[in-house]
Amino acid sequence: MEIYLVGGAVRDGRLGIPVKDRDWVVVGATPEAMKQKGFRQVGANFPVFLHPKTGEEYALARTERKQGRGYHGFTVYSAPDVTLEEDLKRRDLTINAMAEHEDGTLVDPFNGLADLEQKTLRHVSEAFAEDPLRILRTARFAARFHPLGFTICADTMALMREMISSGELEHLVPERVWQEVQRALHEKSPTVFFKVLHDLGALDILMPELANTERFEAGLQALQCISTQDSTTAQRFAALLSALPEPEASARATAMKSPNDCRDLARLLCLLTGWLSQYNGADLPPENVLDMFDQADLWRRPERFELLLATLTCTPQQQHVQPLKLAAESAQGVSPQALLKQGFKGKELGNAIRNERLARITQALAP
Ligand code: ATP
Ligand code: MG
Repeated sequence: MEIYLVGGAVRDGRLGIPVKDRDWVVVGATPEAMKQKGFRQVGANFPVFLHPKTGEEYALARTERKQGRGYHGFTVYSAPDVTLEEDLKRRDLTINAMAEHEDGTLVDPFNGLADLEQKTLRHVSEAFAEDPLRILRTARFAARFHPLGFTICADTMALMREMISSGELEHLVPERVWQEVQRALHEKSPTVFFKVLHDLGALDILMPELANTERFEAGLQALQCISTQDSTTAQRFAALLSALPEPEASARATAMKSPNDCRDLARLLCLLTGWLSQYNGADLPPENVLDMFDQADLWRRPERFELLLATLTCTPQQQHVQPLKLAAESAQGVSPQALLKQGFKGKELGNAIRNERLARITQALAP
């Protein structure tokens, strides 16, 4: 059997950037031979194995044929006679379809190295069209390597447009879309991911609420701003949706099956930006500020509120961040225990807490 390093590790090695994880392809082997050498099989019917010591993935060379639509319906064929070139041919981009032999020689039947040098993202073959996830992966690599000067070549853009117009994206399950979106939000230039999808018309299908030009541009500006900070996925996602009316943002976050923290921060940010947009240059009414603090559950979720304000800094409503911060700090200082000791109980205690918070907010907001 012959063993080759493949995919991202070869690409990143040649780019001179740190290699995160290494994937290997094994040619001329059978599952039995792998198990005899101590490898553990990952899934019962899938020819991928884990190295007994390093835990790295070793996949038997395989070909994939599409049967149905969308991500499902691939028939995997692996046998000792599948060649390295056949395995490389099923991969998405030429820069991801290079292999390196143990002795260091490069196997590059699809000219990935030339594309790496020309900073081009190009599909390996027409088989690219068999998996719509590759559209999202390509947009994500464009986002990752944008700072290095990489762009998607015209042929690949055209092929992806064809795939989209034949309805391929509708067959992707939300979980897989979210996984790519989540990763994209943490790439070097996350806005490029969404620009590519917008360009392709893919956003009309995946996040239609965002496809409107004004909302899209505002969202991208906020995302650009928050992504230059050490920010969470939830903050980045909320920034992206920040120009949407709250019901639309919440509906999209739910439909995309984004995690609760992402959905909640997007909901709160959109409520906040929507509400604040009425007070351009005007003072905020303390009563409404208190209602907003209640809605955001400032009292029990102070860390989340901090993330919310940090994200608000990246929106056109940033002028309100400082006053809200001061008001929140002050209102958080109200001690329910102290009021309890003063003899307040039940509903009266609730009222006393509210009045005290309101007084402090009013004072903090006073010019
Ligand atoms: P990363 O640095 O994000 O790990 P990677 O290129 O290693 O980048 P992986 O998702 O780890 O990406 O996949 C490993 C390799 O498998 C890729 O380089 C590519 O050759 C191939 N690959 C992964 N997913 C697909 C897909 N959906 N279609 C075609 N090839 C794929
Ligand atoms: Mg990888």
